[in-house]
Amino acid sequence: MKMMMKKNLKQLEAWFITGSQHLYGEEVLKQVDRDSKEIAAALDKSAEIPVKVVFKPVLTSPEAIRTICREADNTENCIGLIAWMHTFSPAKMWIAGLKSLSRPFVHLHTQFNRDIPWDSIDMDFMNLNQSAHGGREFGFIGSRMRIDRKVIVGHWSSPPVQSKLGAWLRAACAWHEWQGGKVARFGDNMREVAVTEGNKVSAQIQFGYSVSGYGVGDLAEEVRAVTGAQIDALVDQYRNEYRFPKEATKGSSLLESIREAARIEKGIRNFLEAGGFMAFTTTFEDLHGLVQLPGLAVQRLMADGYGFGAEGDWKTAALVRAMKVMSLGLEGGTSFMEDYTYHLHPGGMKVLGAHMLEICPSISAGKPSLEVHPLGIGGKADPARLVFDVPPGRGINASLMDMGNRFRMVVNPCDVVPADAPLPKLPVARVVWEPYPNLEVAAGAWILAGGAHHTGFSMSLNAGHLEDFSEMAGIEFLLIDKDTTIASVKKELRWNELYYNLKCMNH
Ligand code: MN
Repeated sequence: MKMMMKKNLKQLEAWFITGSQHLYGEEVLKQVDRDSKEIAAALDKSAEIPVKVVFKPVLTSPEAIRTICREADNTENCIGLIAWMHTFSPAKMWIAGLKSLSRPFVHLHTQFNRDIPWDSIDMDFMNLNQSAHGGREFGFIGSRMRIDRKVIVGHWSSPPVQSKLGAWLRAACAWHEWQGGKVARFGDNMREVAVTEGNKVSAQIQFGYSVSGYGVGDLAEEVRAVTGAQIDALVDQYRNEYRFPKEATKGSSLLESIREAARIEKGIRNFLEAGGFMAFTTTFEDLHGLVQLPGLAVQRLMADGYGFGAEGDWKTAALVRAMKVMSLGLEGGTSFMEDYTYHLHPGGMKVLGAHMLEICPSISAGKPSLEVHPLGIGGKADPARLVFDVPPGRGINASLMDMGNRFRMVVNPCDVVPADAPLPKLPVARVVWEPYPNLEVAAGAWILAGGAHHTGFSMSLNAGHLEDFSEMAGIEFLLIDKDTTIASVKKELRWNELYYNLKCMNH
Protein backbone atom coordinates (compact mmCIF):
# COMPACT_ATOMS: atom_id res chain seq x y z
CA MET A 1 0.00 0.00 0.00
CA LYS A 2 1.37 3.38 -0.96
CA MET A 3 1.37 5.94 1.82
CA MET A 4 0.90 9.61 1.09
CA MET A 5 3.49 11.98 2.49
CA LYS A 6 1.55 14.11 4.92
CA LYS A 7 1.73 17.82 4.16
CA ASN A 8 -1.13 19.04 6.33
CA LEU A 9 -2.29 17.63 9.65
CA LYS A 10 -5.89 18.85 9.15
CA GLN A 11 -6.50 15.71 7.11
CA LEU A 12 -6.20 13.83 10.42
CA GLU A 13 -8.71 13.89 13.26
CA ALA A 14 -8.91 13.49 17.01
CA TRP A 15 -12.19 12.40 18.54
CA PHE A 16 -13.56 14.37 21.46
CA ILE A 17 -15.27 11.92 23.80
CA THR A 18 -17.19 12.81 26.93
CA GLY A 19 -17.91 10.51 29.83
CA SER A 20 -21.17 10.64 31.80
CA GLN A 21 -23.82 8.20 33.00
CA HIS A 22 -27.62 7.66 32.82
CA LEU A 23 -28.30 8.66 36.43
CA TYR A 24 -28.57 12.36 35.69
CA GLY A 25 -31.60 12.11 33.41
CA GLU A 26 -32.42 13.46 29.95
CA GLU A 27 -32.16 17.17 30.67
CA VAL A 28 -28.71 17.09 32.20
CA LEU A 29 -27.41 14.75 29.50
CA LYS A 30 -28.68 17.08 26.79
CA GLN A 31 -26.81 19.89 28.45
CA VAL A 32 -23.68 17.74 28.70
CA ASP A 33 -24.01 17.05 24.99
CA ARG A 34 -24.34 20.76 24.12
CA ASP A 35 -21.41 21.76 26.30
CA SER A 36 -19.26 19.04 24.91
CA LYS A 37 -20.09 20.06 21.34
CA GLU A 38 -19.13 23.62 22.15
CA ILE A 39 -15.75 22.62 23.56
CA ALA A 40 -15.00 20.33 20.61
CA ALA A 41 -15.92 23.10 18.16
CA ALA A 42 -13.75 25.65 19.99
CA LEU A 43 -10.78 23.30 20.00
CA ASP A 44 -11.33 22.51 16.34
CA LYS A 45 -11.11 26.24 15.53
CA SER A 46 -8.09 26.92 17.75
CA ALA A 47 -4.87 27.83 15.94
CA GLU A 48 -3.01 25.70 18.50
CA ILE A 49 -4.81 22.51 17.44
CA PRO A 50 -3.25 21.02 14.30
CA VAL A 51 -5.91 18.38 13.52
CA LYS A 52 -9.66 18.30 13.02
CA VAL A 53 -11.44 17.79 16.37
CA VAL A 54 -14.53 15.63 15.93
CA PHE A 55 -17.31 15.67 18.53
CA LYS A 56 -18.72 12.26 19.47
CA PRO A 57 -22.01 11.79 21.33
CA VAL A 58 -21.74 11.60 25.12
CA LEU A 59 -20.92 8.15 26.49
CA THR A 60 -23.13 6.72 29.23
CA SER A 61 -22.62 2.94 29.06
CA PRO A 62 -19.81 0.37 28.85
CA GLU A 63 -21.15 -0.77 25.46
CA ALA A 64 -21.02 2.73 24.00
CA ILE A 65 -17.49 3.25 25.35
CA ARG A 66 -16.24 -0.02 23.95
CA THR A 67 -17.85 0.70 20.58
CA ILE A 68 -16.28 4.16 20.26
CA CYS A 69 -12.84 2.80 21.17
CA ARG A 70 -13.13 0.10 18.52
CA GLU A 71 -14.35 2.61 15.95
CA ALA A 72 -11.42 4.89 16.72
CA ASP A 73 -8.99 2.03 16.19
CA ASN A 74 -10.64 1.18 12.88
CA THR A 75 -10.81 4.70 11.52
CA GLU A 76 -7.69 5.35 9.46
CA ASN A 77 -7.65 9.12 9.95
CA CYS A 78 -8.30 9.05 13.69
CA ILE A 79 -5.02 9.65 15.49
CA GLY A 80 -6.30 9.51 19.06
CA LEU A 81 -8.93 10.45 21.61
CA ILE A 82 -9.42 13.49 23.81
CA ALA A 83 -11.31 12.23 26.86
CA TRP A 84 -13.24 14.55 29.15
CA MET A 85 -15.51 13.76 32.09
CA HIS A 86 -18.21 16.46 32.27
CA THR A 87 -19.93 14.62 35.09
CA PHE A 88 -19.14 11.54 37.08
CA SER A 89 -18.66 8.53 34.79
CA PRO A 90 -18.21 5.34 36.83
CA ALA A 91 -14.92 4.05 35.56
CA LYS A 92 -15.58 0.31 35.50
CA MET A 93 -17.57 1.29 32.40
CA TRP A 94 -14.27 2.29 30.77
CA ILE A 95 -12.31 -0.94 31.37
CA ALA A 96 -13.36 -2.89 28.29
CA GLY A 97 -12.95 0.09 25.98
CA LEU A 98 -9.56 1.15 27.29
CA LYS A 99 -8.33 -2.43 27.34
CA SER A 100 -8.84 -2.84 23.61
CA LEU A 101 -7.94 0.72 22.59
CA SER A 102 -4.72 0.96 20.61
CA ARG A 103 -4.98 4.66 19.69
CA PRO A 104 -3.41 6.98 22.26
CA PHE A 105 -5.69 9.11 24.42
CA VAL A 106 -5.18 12.30 26.39
CA HIS A 107 -7.18 13.10 29.50
CA LEU A 108 -8.38 16.69 29.31
CA HIS A 109 -9.22 17.52 32.92
CA THR A 110 -11.31 20.61 32.37
CA GLN A 111 -14.71 22.00 33.31
CA PHE A 112 -17.26 23.66 31.07
CA ASN A 113 -17.66 26.68 33.35
CA ARG A 114 -14.41 28.38 34.07
CA ASP A 115 -15.58 30.13 37.23
CA ILE A 116 -17.75 29.14 40.14
CA PRO A 117 -20.83 31.43 39.98
CA TRP A 118 -20.48 32.36 43.63
CA ASP A 119 -23.83 34.24 43.88
CA SER A 120 -26.00 31.75 42.07
CA ILE A 121 -24.43 28.35 42.57
CA ASP A 122 -26.98 25.73 43.56
CA MET A 123 -27.26 21.93 43.47
CA ASP A 124 -28.24 21.94 39.78
CA PHE A 125 -24.91 23.55 38.97
CA MET A 126 -23.15 21.07 41.24
CA ASN A 127 -24.89 18.15 39.48
CA LEU A 128 -23.82 19.30 36.06
CA ASN A 129 -20.25 20.41 36.71
CA GLN A 130 -18.60 17.40 38.28
CA SER A 131 -15.32 17.20 36.35
CA ALA A 132 -13.40 17.76 39.57
CA HIS A 133 -14.37 14.34 40.90
CA GLY A 134 -15.47 12.70 37.63
CA GLY A 135 -11.97 13.23 36.22
CA ARG A 136 -10.44 11.58 39.28
CA GLU A 137 -12.60 8.46 38.93
CA PHE A 138 -11.53 8.23 35.27
CA GLY A 139 -7.92 8.86 36.26
CA PHE A 140 -7.97 6.00 38.74
CA ILE A 141 -8.87 3.41 36.16
CA GLY A 142 -6.13 4.60 33.79
CA SER A 143 -3.58 4.29 36.56
CA ARG A 144 -5.03 1.02 37.81
CA MET A 145 -4.68 -0.36 34.28
CA ARG A 146 -1.10 1.00 34.11
CA ILE A 147 -1.79 3.05 30.97
CA ASP A 148 0.84 5.68 30.16
CA ARG A 149 -1.04 8.82 29.22
CA LYS A 150 -1.04 12.59 29.39
CA VAL A 151 -3.28 14.57 31.73
CA ILE A 152 -3.88 18.24 30.88
CA VAL A 153 -5.46 20.37 33.61
CA GLY A 154 -7.08 23.78 33.19
CA HIS A 155 -9.90 25.57 31.41
CA TRP A 156 -10.33 24.41 27.81
CA SER A 157 -10.33 27.98 26.49
CA SER A 158 -6.99 28.90 28.04
CA PRO A 159 -4.00 29.25 25.69
CA PRO A 160 -1.65 27.07 27.80
CA VAL A 161 -4.20 24.22 27.85
CA GLN A 162 -4.76 24.45 24.09
CA SER A 163 -1.04 24.63 23.48
CA LYS A 164 -0.35 21.50 25.56
CA LEU A 165 -3.18 19.70 23.81
CA GLY A 166 -1.84 20.84 20.45
CA ALA A 167 1.62 19.48 21.28
CA TRP A 168 0.16 16.13 22.32
CA LEU A 169 -1.88 15.96 19.12
CA ARG A 170 1.23 16.68 17.06
CA ALA A 171 3.01 13.81 18.80
CA ALA A 172 -0.03 11.61 18.12
CA CYS A 173 0.12 12.49 14.41
CA ALA A 174 3.76 11.39 14.31
CA TRP A 175 2.90 8.22 16.19
CA HIS A 176 0.13 7.57 13.67
CA GLU A 177 2.65 8.06 10.86
CA TRP A 178 4.92 5.39 12.33
CA GLN A 179 2.19 2.75 12.37
CA GLY A 180 2.76 0.86 9.12
CA GLY A 181 5.40 3.40 8.06
CA LYS A 182 8.29 2.19 5.90
CA VAL A 183 11.99 3.03 6.03
CA ALA A 184 14.26 2.21 3.07
CA ARG A 185 17.84 1.37 3.94
CA PHE A 186 20.22 1.68 0.98
CA GLY A 187 23.15 -0.49 1.84
CA ASP A 188 23.65 -1.59 5.43
CA ASN A 189 25.14 0.00 8.52
CA MET A 190 28.51 1.75 8.42
CA ARG A 191 30.90 -1.05 9.30
CA GLU A 192 31.81 -1.33 13.01
CA VAL A 193 29.54 1.52 14.11
CA ALA A 194 27.54 0.57 17.20
CA VAL A 195 24.90 3.16 18.01
CA THR A 196 23.32 3.20 14.55
CA GLU A 197 22.64 -0.53 14.85
CA GLY A 198 19.69 -2.01 16.68
CA ASN A 199 17.07 -4.69 16.59
CA LYS A 200 14.70 -4.00 13.71
CA VAL A 201 12.24 -6.61 14.92
CA SER A 202 12.07 -5.00 18.37
CA ALA A 203 11.63 -1.64 16.68
CA GLN A 204 8.76 -2.86 14.54
CA ILE A 205 7.00 -4.38 17.55
CA GLN A 206 7.53 -1.27 19.68
CA PHE A 207 7.16 1.45 17.07
CA GLY A 208 5.06 0.03 14.24
CA TYR A 209 7.35 0.91 11.32
CA SER A 210 9.37 -1.52 9.24
CA VAL A 211 12.91 -1.16 7.92
CA SER A 212 13.81 -2.84 4.65
CA GLY A 213 17.27 -3.07 3.18
CA TYR A 214 17.92 -2.55 -0.54
CA GLY A 215 21.06 -3.20 -2.53
CA VAL A 216 22.36 0.13 -3.74
CA GLY A 217 22.32 -1.38 -7.24
CA ASP A 218 18.51 -1.20 -7.19
CA LEU A 219 18.79 2.50 -6.48
CA ALA A 220 21.52 2.98 -9.10
CA GLU A 221 19.14 1.52 -11.68
CA GLU A 222 16.49 4.14 -10.81
CA VAL A 223 19.15 6.83 -11.03
CA ARG A 224 20.31 5.65 -14.46
CA ALA A 225 16.72 5.74 -15.73
CA VAL A 226 16.40 9.50 -15.10
CA THR A 227 16.13 11.45 -18.38
CA GLY A 228 18.03 14.53 -19.52
CA ALA A 229 14.82 16.55 -19.57
CA GLN A 230 14.09 15.61 -15.95
CA ILE A 231 17.60 16.71 -15.00
CA ASP A 232 17.17 20.03 -16.88
CA ALA A 233 13.94 20.72 -14.97
CA LEU A 234 15.56 20.06 -11.60
CA VAL A 235 18.62 22.18 -12.37
CA ASP A 236 16.25 25.04 -13.27
CA GLN A 237 14.66 24.65 -9.83
CA TYR A 238 18.10 24.79 -8.22
CA ARG A 239 18.82 28.06 -10.04
CA ASN A 240 15.64 29.57 -8.57
CA GLU A 241 15.91 28.24 -5.06
CA TYR A 242 19.61 28.57 -4.29
CA ARG A 243 22.61 30.76 -4.89
CA PHE A 244 23.80 29.01 -8.03
CA PRO A 245 27.53 29.10 -8.89
CA LYS A 246 28.25 31.46 -11.80
CA GLU A 247 31.09 29.20 -12.96
CA ALA A 248 28.64 26.39 -13.64
CA THR A 249 28.44 27.19 -17.32
CA LYS A 250 27.31 24.83 -20.05
CA GLY A 251 29.80 22.04 -20.51
CA SER A 252 31.75 22.84 -17.32
CA SER A 253 32.64 20.00 -14.98
CA LEU A 254 30.94 21.98 -12.19
CA LEU A 255 27.62 21.94 -14.03
CA GLU A 256 28.10 18.26 -14.80
CA SER A 257 28.53 17.54 -11.05
CA ILE A 258 25.33 19.44 -10.30
CA ARG A 259 23.50 17.59 -13.08
CA GLU A 260 24.71 14.31 -11.61
CA ALA A 261 23.34 15.37 -8.20
CA ALA A 262 20.01 16.15 -9.87
CA ARG A 263 19.98 12.71 -11.47
CA ILE A 264 20.58 11.12 -8.06
CA GLU A 265 17.83 13.22 -6.47
CA LYS A 266 15.28 12.22 -9.08
CA GLY A 267 16.30 8.57 -8.84
CA ILE A 268 16.00 8.40 -5.04
CA ARG A 269 12.71 10.31 -5.14
CA ASN A 270 11.25 7.89 -7.68
CA PHE A 271 12.38 4.94 -5.60
CA LEU A 272 10.87 6.34 -2.38
CA GLU A 273 7.61 7.34 -4.03
CA ALA A 274 7.16 3.98 -5.75
CA GLY A 275 7.71 2.14 -2.46
CA GLY A 276 5.68 4.51 -0.28
CA PHE A 277 8.61 5.20 2.09
CA MET A 278 8.57 7.84 4.81
CA ALA A 279 12.32 7.81 5.48
CA PHE A 280 15.59 6.42 4.16
CA THR A 281 19.25 5.92 4.95
CA THR A 282 22.40 5.88 2.86
CA THR A 283 25.98 4.99 3.68
CA PHE A 284 29.15 6.29 2.06
CA GLU A 285 30.64 2.80 2.31
CA ASP A 286 28.10 1.40 -0.09
CA LEU A 287 27.69 3.56 -3.20
CA HIS A 288 28.41 1.10 -5.96
CA GLY A 289 26.91 2.46 -9.16
CA LEU A 290 26.40 5.97 -7.78
CA VAL A 291 28.83 8.62 -8.95
CA GLN A 292 28.61 10.84 -5.83
CA LEU A 293 27.55 10.45 -2.24
CA PRO A 294 23.97 11.78 -2.25
CA GLY A 295 24.22 15.19 -0.55
CA LEU A 296 22.04 17.74 -2.29
CA ALA A 297 19.50 14.98 -3.00
CA VAL A 298 19.22 14.04 0.67
CA GLN A 299 18.98 17.69 1.71
CA ARG A 300 16.14 18.37 -0.72
CA LEU A 301 14.25 15.20 0.12
CA MET A 302 14.46 16.08 3.84
CA ALA A 303 13.14 19.55 3.03
CA ASP A 304 10.15 17.84 1.39
CA GLY A 305 9.44 15.92 4.60
CA TYR A 306 11.37 12.66 4.28
CA GLY A 307 13.19 11.37 7.33
CA PHE A 308 16.88 10.65 6.87
CA GLY A 309 19.72 8.98 8.73
CA ALA A 310 23.29 8.70 7.45
CA GLU A 311 25.51 5.62 7.69
CA GLY A 312 22.52 3.28 7.76
CA ASP A 313 21.00 4.96 10.81
CA TRP A 314 17.37 3.87 10.41
CA LYS A 315 16.36 4.84 13.98
CA THR A 316 17.33 8.45 13.37
CA ALA A 317 15.77 8.39 9.89
CA ALA A 318 12.42 7.36 11.38
CA LEU A 319 12.82 9.86 14.22
CA VAL A 320 13.52 12.74 11.83
CA ARG A 321 10.37 11.82 9.90
CA ALA A 322 8.36 11.73 13.14
CA MET A 323 9.74 15.15 14.10
CA LYS A 324 8.90 16.50 10.63
CA VAL A 325 5.30 15.34 11.03
CA MET A 326 5.07 16.81 14.56
CA SER A 327 6.29 20.17 13.32
CA LEU A 328 4.15 20.49 10.17
CA GLY A 329 2.89 24.07 9.92
CA LEU A 330 5.09 25.38 12.75
CA GLU A 331 7.80 28.00 12.37
CA GLY A 332 11.38 26.73 12.15
CA GLY A 333 12.79 23.64 10.51
CA THR A 334 13.85 20.09 11.39
CA SER A 335 16.92 18.19 10.23
CA PHE A 336 19.13 15.20 10.64
CA MET A 337 22.11 16.38 12.72
CA GLU A 338 25.41 15.32 14.20
CA ASP A 339 27.43 16.83 17.03
CA TYR A 340 30.48 17.49 14.91
CA THR A 341 33.06 19.60 16.67
CA TYR A 342 33.42 21.68 19.87
CA HIS A 343 34.38 25.19 20.86
CA LEU A 344 35.76 24.68 24.38
CA HIS A 345 36.56 28.31 25.12
CA PRO A 346 36.26 29.11 28.85
CA GLY A 347 34.10 32.11 27.97
CA GLY A 348 31.35 29.91 26.53
CA MET A 349 31.58 26.34 25.32
CA LYS A 350 29.47 25.36 22.33
CA VAL A 351 28.86 22.72 19.71
CA LEU A 352 29.13 23.00 15.96
CA GLY A 353 26.58 20.65 14.45
CA ALA A 354 26.89 19.52 10.83
CA HIS A 355 27.37 16.39 8.75
CA MET A 356 29.45 15.44 5.78
CA LEU A 357 26.67 16.93 3.62
CA GLU A 358 23.21 16.01 4.78
CA ILE A 359 21.65 18.88 6.73
CA CYS A 360 18.11 19.95 5.83
CA PRO A 361 17.73 23.46 4.33
CA SER A 362 14.46 23.90 6.29
CA ILE A 363 16.69 25.30 9.06
CA SER A 364 18.66 27.64 6.78
CA ALA A 365 18.96 31.32 7.71
CA GLY A 366 18.69 32.47 4.11
CA LYS A 367 19.05 31.28 0.54
CA PRO A 368 21.43 28.30 0.67
CA SER A 369 24.46 28.28 -1.56
CA LEU A 370 24.76 25.37 -3.99
CA GLU A 371 28.39 24.24 -4.07
CA VAL A 372 30.53 21.34 -5.23
CA HIS A 373 33.61 20.37 -3.24
CA PRO A 374 35.76 17.28 -2.85
CA LEU A 375 34.84 14.86 -0.06
CA GLY A 376 37.75 13.30 1.79
CA ILE A 377 35.90 10.05 2.46
CA GLY A 378 34.22 7.39 0.34
CA GLY A 379 36.41 7.70 -2.77
CA LYS A 380 33.70 9.05 -5.06
CA ALA A 381 33.34 12.13 -7.28
CA ASP A 382 32.96 15.59 -5.70
CA PRO A 383 29.39 15.85 -4.43
CA ALA A 384 27.05 18.84 -4.69
CA ARG A 385 25.61 20.18 -1.44
CA LEU A 386 23.79 23.17 0.02
CA VAL A 387 25.87 25.33 2.35
CA PHE A 388 24.17 27.63 4.87
CA ASP A 389 24.08 28.95 8.42
CA VAL A 390 21.17 28.62 10.84
CA PRO A 391 19.44 31.58 12.52
CA PRO A 392 19.66 32.02 16.31
CA GLY A 393 16.75 30.74 18.39
CA ARG A 394 15.60 27.85 20.54
CA GLY A 395 16.52 24.40 19.32
CA ILE A 396 16.36 20.82 20.46
CA ASN A 397 18.31 17.63 19.82
CA ALA A 398 16.68 14.22 20.19
CA SER A 399 18.29 10.83 19.91
CA LEU A 400 16.95 7.29 20.02
CA MET A 401 18.99 4.28 21.08
CA ASP A 402 18.41 0.54 21.32
CA MET A 403 19.62 -0.31 24.85
CA GLY A 404 19.09 -4.06 24.42
CA ASN A 405 16.10 -4.44 26.74
CA ARG A 406 14.42 -1.19 25.68
CA PHE A 407 14.62 1.91 23.51
CA ARG A 408 15.72 5.16 25.10
CA MET A 409 14.98 8.70 23.90
CA VAL A 410 17.38 11.39 25.07
CA VAL A 411 16.39 15.01 24.52
CA ASN A 412 18.42 18.15 25.09
CA PRO A 413 17.16 21.70 24.38
CA CYS A 414 19.69 24.32 23.32
CA ASP A 415 20.12 27.91 22.23
CA VAL A 416 21.22 28.25 18.64
CA VAL A 417 23.79 31.05 18.56
CA PRO A 418 25.73 32.80 15.81
CA ALA A 419 29.22 31.53 15.02
CA ASP A 420 31.89 33.77 16.55
CA ALA A 421 33.06 34.61 13.02
CA PRO A 422 32.14 33.70 9.44
CA LEU A 423 33.27 30.24 8.30
CA PRO A 424 34.46 30.90 4.76
CA LYS A 425 36.35 27.64 4.35
CA LEU A 426 33.73 25.25 5.76
CA PRO A 427 31.96 23.71 2.75
CA VAL A 428 28.93 22.27 4.60
CA ALA A 429 25.78 23.52 6.31
CA ARG A 430 26.37 24.14 10.01
CA VAL A 431 24.64 25.22 13.17
CA VAL A 432 26.21 26.42 16.41
CA TRP A 433 24.44 25.83 19.71
CA GLU A 434 24.87 26.03 23.46
CA PRO A 435 23.14 23.07 25.08
CA TYR A 436 21.19 23.31 28.36
CA PRO A 437 22.25 23.61 31.12
CA ASN A 438 25.77 24.01 29.63
CA LEU A 439 28.04 21.93 27.44
CA GLU A 440 29.86 20.33 30.36
CA VAL A 441 26.75 18.85 31.96
CA ALA A 442 24.84 18.31 28.72
CA ALA A 443 27.59 16.34 26.99
CA GLY A 444 28.45 14.43 30.18
CA ALA A 445 24.84 13.45 30.78
CA TRP A 446 24.28 12.63 27.10
CA ILE A 447 27.30 10.33 27.06
CA LEU A 448 26.33 8.58 30.33
CA ALA A 449 22.90 7.98 28.80
CA GLY A 450 24.51 6.40 25.74
CA GLY A 451 23.06 9.17 23.56
CA ALA A 452 23.94 8.84 19.88
CA HIS A 453 26.10 11.22 17.84
CA HIS A 454 23.24 11.41 15.32
CA THR A 455 20.14 13.33 16.30
CA GLY A 456 16.93 14.79 15.06
CA PHE A 457 17.38 18.54 15.43
CA SER A 458 14.44 20.92 15.42
CA MET A 459 13.78 24.59 15.86
CA SER A 460 10.00 24.03 15.83
CA LEU A 461 9.59 21.50 18.62
CA ASN A 462 10.20 21.49 22.36
CA ALA A 463 10.85 18.74 24.88
CA GLY A 464 7.11 18.38 25.53
CA HIS A 465 6.44 17.09 22.01
CA LEU A 466 9.08 14.39 22.38
CA GLU A 467 8.03 13.47 25.90
CA ASP A 468 4.44 12.93 24.73
CA PHE A 469 5.73 10.94 21.77
CA SER A 470 7.93 8.72 23.96
CA GLU A 471 5.00 8.05 26.25
CA MET A 472 2.85 6.92 23.32
CA ALA A 473 5.68 4.68 22.17
CA GLY A 474 6.10 3.30 25.68
CA ILE A 475 9.84 4.00 25.79
CA GLU A 476 12.24 5.58 28.24
CA PHE A 477 12.44 9.36 28.04
CA LEU A 478 15.46 11.17 29.45
CA LEU A 479 15.48 14.96 29.41
CA ILE A 480 18.68 16.94 29.86
CA ASP A 481 17.53 20.46 30.68
CA LYS A 482 18.21 23.51 32.84
CA ASP A 483 17.85 21.64 36.15
CA THR A 484 19.90 18.58 35.13
CA THR A 485 23.02 17.65 37.08
CA ILE A 486 25.33 14.72 36.44
CA ALA A 487 24.35 13.29 39.83
CA SER A 488 20.63 13.50 38.99
CA VAL A 489 21.13 11.83 35.61
CA LYS A 490 23.15 8.99 37.11
CA LYS A 491 20.37 8.30 39.59
CA GLU A 492 17.65 8.47 36.97
CA LEU A 493 19.55 6.05 34.73
CA ARG A 494 19.97 3.56 37.58
CA TRP A 495 16.31 3.78 38.58
CA ASN A 496 15.19 3.46 34.97
CA GLU A 497 17.37 0.38 34.55
CA LEU A 498 15.55 -1.25 37.44
CA TYR A 499 12.14 -0.15 36.21
CA TYR A 500 12.61 -1.44 32.67
CA ASN A 501 14.13 -4.71 33.82
CA LEU A 502 11.10 -5.32 36.04
CA LYS A 503 8.81 -4.29 33.19
CA CYS A 504 10.53 -6.78 30.85
CA MET A 505 10.03 -9.56 33.39
CA ASN A 506 6.30 -8.93 33.30
CA HIS A 507 6.05 -9.25 29.51
MN1 MN B 1 27.29 10.50 10.81
